[in-house]
Amino acid sequence: MKGRVTNIQRYSLHDGPGIRTTVFFAGCGLRCLWCSNPESLRNEERIMVFTSRCTGCAACLSIDTDQALTLNGKSLTFDPQKDLAKFIAVCPYKVFVKVNEEVEAEDVANTCLRDRLFYEESRGGVTFSGGEPLLQPEFLKEVVQRLKKEGIHIAIETAGNVGFESFEVIDPYVDLYLYDLKFIDPVQHLRYTGQNNEIILSNLERLIQLKKNIVLRMVLLNGINDTDQEWDKRFDWLKHHSSSFQRIELLAYHNFGEGKYVALGEEYPMKDQKKTDEIRIQEIKGKLESMGFEVHVENAF
Ligand code: SF4
Repeated sequence: MKGRVTNIQRYSLHDGPGIRTTVFFAGCGLRCLWCSNPESLRNEERIMVFTSRCTGCAACLSIDTDQALTLNGKSLTFDPQKDLAKFIAVCPYKVFVKVNEEVEAEDVANTCLRDRLFYEESRGGVTFSGGEPLLQPEFLKEVVQRLKKEGIHIAIETAGNVGFESFEVIDPYVDLYLYDLKFIDPVQHLRYTGQNNEIILSNLERLIQLKKNIVLRMVLLNGINDTDQEWDKRFDWLKHHSSSFQRIELLAYHNFGEGKYVALGEEYPMKDQKKTDEIRIQEIKGKLESMGFEVHVENAF
């Protein structure tokens, strides 16, 4: 069976225990303004244009029949509305890169299995992220079934904005859920992600009731979701779930994804966003620890 994958990243250290391979699935139902993987939002092929690799050789201009490109020395600009795929074949410097191609589940599993020695030595495994991996549940099932036969540890990073039946399809093969919670406040959730959080919270509650292994992940955005108003609601919700999570991960916002927006010809929506300061992060961490949670702070997301 085929599915769409944006990227397979080896030697990941932040997506679950040990050394891992992270498989980024294409397609997501949310549109979080701070998303650091904008290329994986749509379940369709996209062309990314890495203009800094351009040497100015002009090979691409010979087939630029509809003025998609403008070249000034080594300075390349492009029109993202035009057909850019045709330039992949002529550019010798990999300026144009296609992502989200369809791949066979078997091939994804085989790529992951190449690093099984690392998984064994570090107690690592494979993490499925995205995008939203649970939007391709049957394809995901075929990949994880194959990996589970080889005894590989499986983690699923999800924002949970899917019908619970998608969880049921893959749950027998899952060792750990990395559950991303953006907001408890429904109005803010809708404002910043484009979707209501009702189904997200209800799926999380169901996983908790089923006593699944869950790491709760929360990205912190200065002035957006690190406020007292939001955290009072989170603390209130969390006090009913003090033994529900393996741990909580606080992920400090970063702007590493900005270059990807540029490569897609899109505007970065969080241009002036600041990081949550260390004092506030430690304040939230301390309060969570006083409630009995194990808390890790990560600077990458
Ligand atoms: S072919 Fe590639 S390197 Fe050469 S000018 Fe075009 S984009 Fe730049």
